[in-house]
Amino acid sequence: MGMLKSSLAFLVLAFAFFFCYVMSSGSYDYFQFVQQWPPTNCKVRGKPCSKPRPLQYFTIHGLWPSNYSNPTMPSNCNGLKFEDRKVYPQLRSKLKRSWPDVESGNDTKFWESEWNKHGRCSEQTLNQMQYFEGSHDMWKSFNITNILKNASIIPNATQTWSYSDIASPIKAATKRTPLLRCKRDPKHPNKPQLLHEVVFCYDYNAIKQIDCNGTAGCQQAFSFQ
Ligand code: 5GP
Repeated sequence: MGMLKSSLAFLVLAFAFFFCYVMSSGSYDYFQFVQQWPPTNCKVRGKPCSKPRPLQYFTIHGLWPSNYSNPTMPSNCNGLKFEDRKVYPQLRSKLKRSWPDVESGNDTKFWESEWNKHGRCSEQTLNQMQYFEGSHDMWKSFNITNILKNASIIPNATQTWSYSDIASPIKAATKRTPLLRCKRDPKHPNKPQLLHEVVFCYDYNAIKQIDCNGTAGCQQAFSFQ
């Protein structure tokens, strides 16, 4: 009887350890590769960005391991903290173009916060170097700004767009369904929402782009300016 009890206790303990390990190391289904439109970021954040004229091309916000049941999870997992020395000079200069801090201009701090919040949750698949190199390569593979320009979608303050106006040319170029996210400018609550982010989805290994699914993140008519 005593033997049975201790084996049972051992099993319960082993399960608890396993559960804690899985929760802290992060389990996920796929990646969201999120690019942002800097002018919108600067309008909606409440305080001005450091650059008077924000960049006029889509930049990386982050590569987020995500769960189908809750796409905002996992986050803030245990694991190796960001190490600046791992962003070697050649990678640094690439990231300064593709993944700048468009808010306050402190690129390294932005990379650190994205790695610590999201990257560490997929460390079993991508180490820190692979995470940032892979993200830059994803950014390079499709130039959203040019895709839209080629479809005669140029940022301007007068026009509004439907979800499919923007999503269709991106889908035609990438052969995969993207997700769009919009935000309202708090200074102009009665004006149409602003296009804020375009999301591409990737498989578990961050190799193959897949269709994103989810509910539309933009209201019917929104602006891209
Ligand atoms: P998450 O933390 O989930 O990656 O994204 C949300 C946060 O990212 C927000 O607090 C937003 O302000 C921040 N964020 C988005 N773009 C930038 C940026 O260019 N620089 C910095 N420092 N934060 C950013």
